[in-house]
Amino acid sequence: MAVAHVLVFPFPIQGHINCMLHFATALVGAGVHVTFLHTEHNLRRLGGRASSASGSPLLRFLSVPDGLPDDHPRSASDLPELYKSLAGGATGPYRDLLSADAGADPTGGFAPVTCLVADGLLPWSFDVAEELGVPAIAFRTASAGSFLAFLSVPKLFELAELPFPVGGDLDEPVRGVPGMESFLRRRDLPSACRRPKDSDDDVGPALRPLAKLSADNGKARALVLNTTASLERSALAHIAPHMRDMFAVGPLHAMSPAAAASSSLLREDDGCMAWLDAQADRSVVYASLGSLAVITHEQFTEFYSGLVAAGYPFLWVLRPDMVKASQDAALQRTAAAAAGDGKARVVAWAPQRDVLRHRAVGCFLTHAGWNSTLEAVVEGVPTVCWPVSAEQQINSRFVGAVWRNGLDMKDVCERAVVEKTVREAMESDEIRRSAEALAQQVKRDVAAGGSSVTEFERLVGFIRELSASHGQSQ
Ligand code: UDP
Repeated sequence: MAVAHVLVFPFPIQGHINCMLHFATALVGAGVHVTFLHTEHNLRRLGGRASSASGSPLLRFLSVPDGLPDDHPRSASDLPELYKSLAGGATGPYRDLLSADAGADPTGGFAPVTCLVADGLLPWSFDVAEELGVPAIAFRTASAGSFLAFLSVPKLFELAELPFPVGGDLDEPVRGVPGMESFLRRRDLPSACRRPKDSDDDVGPALRPLAKLSADNGKARALVLNTTASLERSALAHIAPHMRDMFAVGPLHAMSPAAAASSSLLREDDGCMAWLDAQADRSVVYASLGSLAVITHEQFTEFYSGLVAAGYPFLWVLRPDMVKASQDAALQRTAAAAAGDGKARVVAWAPQRDVLRHRAVGCFLTHAGWNSTLEAVVEGVPTVCWPVSAEQQINSRFVGAVWRNGLDMKDVCERAVVEKTVREAMESDEIRRSAEALAQQVKRDVAAGGSSVTEFERLVGFIRELSASHGQSQ
């Protein structure tokens, strides 16, 4: 059988890149050729780190333009713009790559692309693949639960659960997302379901296209999800009937070798590891809100005050673009004060997986992005979730109410709540025990013979078959 050559194409933001690079590395480990597609902007930012992450001749990195001018800030608030411009800027070069000979590199041993695995958020990439006869698989980097919530949006409108009543209580239960009716509240649905505060605006025009995007992923040959049955058995069972085939192969960061980790667009500050070495076991709170979240200065102050009041040493990721008006001198002084007495360490970007694995870390204050949630699960670290946007609320609800490996702080940001919740997560034996038991369960899934490994092997076989039939049709 000819060698399969998969084009892996993530939406170009940190969480998606990390997850799909772990996937690419696992494919390479199974002997599959992989071309990993960055945007030109990101590949420039990664520099030599992109290719040194691989170390394998089966993996190469190429790029396409994202359609934005070079000096565009590409900040978190520009994501809708990036989403649109990418389709315009990248389609031509991407089409060339997928078309028979252009994607080949005989000197490097790469035959033409035989299969596409693209981020489910790039619908146009599937249209081009279909036009060129390249079999395509959709990959969603978020939780199965959040994907199911998007699939359920038409039902939520039908049941009049959506739109939420103006000024209504967000803690009210929600019907219509199968398998989650006993614990899901309005506030746990993706943030696109919420109207701006007290407005009469219809959420439909923004929300329905997102729901359609998820439903359309069902047209691909299969859906790949970075999750596992031990975490999301019920959601997976409810998604399956909507898909032609489905593979739950996560948590992928625990499946692929550590070498794949260096996909950080921001430079990691390793200095915090020595600081952690000097701290007592399970004494430190690690606080990070991921790569995109932007908070107000007031929220920043509440977090800071809550963390200080909780009384534990803390390691805090404070991205340069994380706090609105971050040039504010008061903010600079606060960060300096946090670091000044040695009880805290502030970094712009941390080697998060190493941090979570460190014996000194006692709990993780997170925005509940899916990658961060999974990384904490695998290390058995209790989490305090402060969900900011997108589908983080549902992850936070799973942590607090289903897996019980941490606490759901909801989107409330008050110093007294931060203090109390962090203390509880640091001190509770029950939460620690649940977190450790969950970690053991998930580690079994990613060990030889475990469900994610078995699913991954089935997926590799599926890709080889698709590739072989594609080869015959050329
Ligand atoms: N991350 C990191 N260093 C940091 C903060 C985050 O390496 O200081 C990584 C983290 O390990 C995770 C990713 O960035 O893999 C963030 O993805 P997630 O889905 O949690 O959140 P997003 O950034 O998409 O909101």
